[in-house]
Amino acid sequence: MTRKLGSGRLVIATHNAGKLKEIGKLLEPYGLDCISAGSLGLPEPPETGKTFIENALIKARAAAQASGMVALADDSGLSVAALDGRPGVYTADWAERQWFEGEPGRDWYMAMGKVEGMLQEKGADIARDAWFSCVLALAWPDGGHAVYEGRVDGSLTWPPRGTMGFGYDPVFVPAGDTRTFAELDPAQKHAISHRADAFAKLVKDQFGV
Ligand code: IMP
Repeated sequence: MTRKLGSGRLVIATHNAGKLKEIGKLLEPYGLDCISAGSLGLPEPPETGKTFIENALIKARAAAQASGMVALADDSGLSVAALDGRPGVYTADWAERQWFEGEPGRDWYMAMGKVEGMLQEKGADIARDAWFSCVLALAWPDGGHAVYEGRVDGSLTWPPRGTMGFGYDPVFVPAGDTRTFAELDPAQKHAISHRADAFAKLVKDQFGV
């Protein structure tokens, strides 16, 4: 049986205020008071894992150890079938630009172009199937853990379309639709996304709903 969360404080292993807000909102109804690893001054461990599960566990375990509280981390990314699952855990790295006008940053258009270029090199009739994954990991300070995997299947289109969302949303068309994630309004995307799938599994397992 999985370890269960009680009510009380939960450390969200992120330094991203947007993620904390989104996750905090999802878990609020279950009596959890979410606090970010960033606001506690916890260090960010290097994401050295080869899978989404390994990376989510690295982040959750580091935050649980350092804070002495239960911690939740997520790891996500895009996998392309014809590219043997790449970029996968390196999804964010493929957008990394060394420096831009003096600032480090990520260029999503460049990253989407890189994926498209690799697909086109494989030939015009190559399968364009792809999926987004999201893994949520809970870690307890005594070493216990629980992992929930979410996924949404779809295909890649080119050129990018739509202005909503982030990351690779403008080239991802979820199965059963003709619009990209960046053309769906956020509520529509959140109803079917890999993150929603993983959260639904966590909430069902942890809270029975
Ligand atoms: P991380 O989970 O914060 O390491 O992020 C992995 C990367 O995957 C993000 O920087 C995004 O580029 C990409 N990604 C994850 N989820 C989505 C999504 O819902 N839409 C578009 N890109 C995503």
